[in-house]
Amino acid sequence: MPRLPVVGLAAFLAACATPRAPEAPERPPPSSSAAAPASPGIDPSIVDRSVSPCVDFYAYACGGWARRTEIPADKERWVRSFDVMREENRERLHGLLDAAAAGKVDPGDRFGQKVADLYAACMDEDAAERSGLAWLREEWTRLDAVKGGADVAAAVGRMHARGAFPLFSVRATQDARDSSQVIGNLVQGGLSLPDRDYYVRKDDASEALRQDFLAHVARQFVLAGEPSASAAADASATLAVEVSLAESAWTRVEMRDPIRVYNRVDLAGLRRAAPTFDWEGYLAALGATGVSSFNATTPRALARIDELVRTAPPATWRAYLRWHALAQAADLRALPRALSEEAFRFRARHFTGEKSMPVRWKHCVEVTDRLLGEALGQAFARRFFAPNARAKAASLIAGVQGAMQRRISTLGWMDDATRARAQEKLAAMSDKVGYPERWRDYGAVRLRRDAFLASALSASAFEMRRQIGLVGKPVDRGEWRMTAPTVNAYYSPPLNEIVLPAGILQPPFYTHGANDAVNFGAMGLVVGHEMTHGFDDQGRKYDARGNLADWWSPPVGAEFVRRASCVENQYSGYTAVDDVKVDGKLTLGENLADLGGLGLSLAAYRASRAGLPPEPPVAGYSPEQQFFLAHAQAWCAIVRPENARLRAVTDPHSPPRWRVNGPLSNLPEFAEAFRCNVGDPMVRSDRCQVW
Ligand SMILES: [Zn+2]
Repeated sequence: MPRLPVVGLAAFLAACATPRAPEAPERPPPSSSAAAPASPGIDPSIVDRSVSPCVDFYAYACGGWARRTEIPADKERWVRSFDVMREENRERLHGLLDAAAAGKVDPGDRFGQKVADLYAACMDEDAAERSGLAWLREEWTRLDAVKGGADVAAAVGRMHARGAFPLFSVRATQDARDSSQVIGNLVQGGLSLPDRDYYVRKDDASEALRQDFLAHVARQFVLAGEPSASAAADASATLAVEVSLAESAWTRVEMRDPIRVYNRVDLAGLRRAAPTFDWEGYLAALGATGVSSFNATTPRALARIDELVRTAPPATWRAYLRWHALAQAADLRALPRALSEEAFRFRARHFTGEKSMPVRWKHCVEVTDRLLGEALGQAFARRFFAPNARAKAASLIAGVQGAMQRRISTLGWMDDATRARAQEKLAAMSDKVGYPERWRDYGAVRLRRDAFLASALSASAFEMRRQIGLVGKPVDRGEWRMTAPTVNAYYSPPLNEIVLPAGILQPPFYTHGANDAVNFGAMGLVVGHEMTHGFDDQGRKYDARGNLADWWSPPVGAEFVRRASCVENQYSGYTAVDDVKVDGKLTLGENLADLGGLGLSLAAYRASRAGLPPEPPVAGYSPEQQFFLAHAQAWCAIVRPENARLRAVTDPHSPPRWRVNGPLSNLPEFAEAFRCNVGDPMVRSDRCQVW
């Protein structure tokens, strides 16, 4: 389940943290906001007027929607803005891909044929049924040669080279203390369940989950052709390795500390950290011979790998590696349907709650976006990115940046030295909007329409070679970490930049013809949120050039920590689901970004209206009420309880209700706009203020 982690990437949603992109329904339900609301950007008809906006603004803004909306059977969560937009983008990509697969490839589209072939290969479900297991058996035969020691490292390197990640994962990253250089990042991992907590917790529910995982792994081995006695033994061996790795892994909260996870190491250092693991053999199999610039996020995980290589018998390694080969192919849905369905049922039972598997074309659109994203993104951007969207985004960014500059210049708790460094960092912050200036060259990817698994692994291997090729070179500032159709945004601390893909620059986040109040409440908030990430509890540890460096005078740094702990305590008091609380430490960076982003976007809106007459009311709502309603209604959501519990453990973002009520109850501007009084639940007496 774990994918390539992107260290230092703080996304607006949870794209980088979730095990896979959420899937969508056949059709959006008719009551969702897919139908154009009466007033662009906000929809007064879904407001629940039986709830006071001063008691629970989320329930007020979204109550009518929640009553009328059913979560689609193949969704773990349904968010009014994001998921409807994702669904629309997916339909558009579906149209492009169906036409291309049928032979209508745009001759100007350099990699259009490759995109068409991968999608067509994926759509051939019968071929997966016929040939998927043949590939797996060949792979298992290769793994049978693993007798321990050096064999393990070579097998792991070979699997990493095609994007399966037993033991740990690897990718290119900027050196956090010299952001101009690219190094290889070795990240703790090698787990199948979505977090190390699931392996180490001692409560009954966690024990039961591990038992069910054992049964699931054994069933998959049997479906792949193993006798049931050895399947059960192999499942136990697999779980034993993963429990051991999980015990050595740091928690998500520990992994949020960029100083803790910075452990620069060369090849000699890796040899010292895990002498029994054959690093040269590993690098040769990975295609990275000669590479010697690394970071290891978790030194004690390397020590554990060394211990495992010394002590685990060859049969254990064969079982563990066989399982990870199987899991990669099952995740691609490139094996017989019985295996994909078993994988789906296990995930649904514990982590998503989904009632049905997404139809094949949705999966194939997602796979094509994941593996050939910048080829597919070109076609998307050409067809669907409005030419004026960049200019509109640029003006929003400039407005919010101006608001942040004024905020920093008047912030009472800052001294002049720290203030100057903060302004320097803000001024150096760059942005990218829409899609890359220079598209990735997929010329080396080898695809065959009649061989989906081989084609997908070839595309995955291409991406790994590309990553390895970046290591040891100066950083490419033009690179994107999300594809153009993605409905999301991110801030990169080492690049000190915010990135808004074409996919999010659409209604309801940006609605042509809506009041500015509405667009600042939705899209302006996204911009302010990403900008604040540069100054949240992680981002503040990087300087203007994206290097880890402490530019805070000690008393001001201490005051930041004090103010941030107010936010941590606030959210720790919220319930995520049932008896599970929100983790105020895990979600701190995102909560700071929501709080800062709303305040900055509102200030930018006010500044943009200076000297102008007020914008017209909509359904009786004043412009500033529209601003807050636009924010809240973007977050109307239904989350299945299984998924809410997963997110409480893994998602650095708070649940939708608290992304609305959390920041708004800290903002006097909100209380003023809705005439809320001291003592109302939406007016916190001990309000938190940072940026
Ligand atoms: Zn964020």
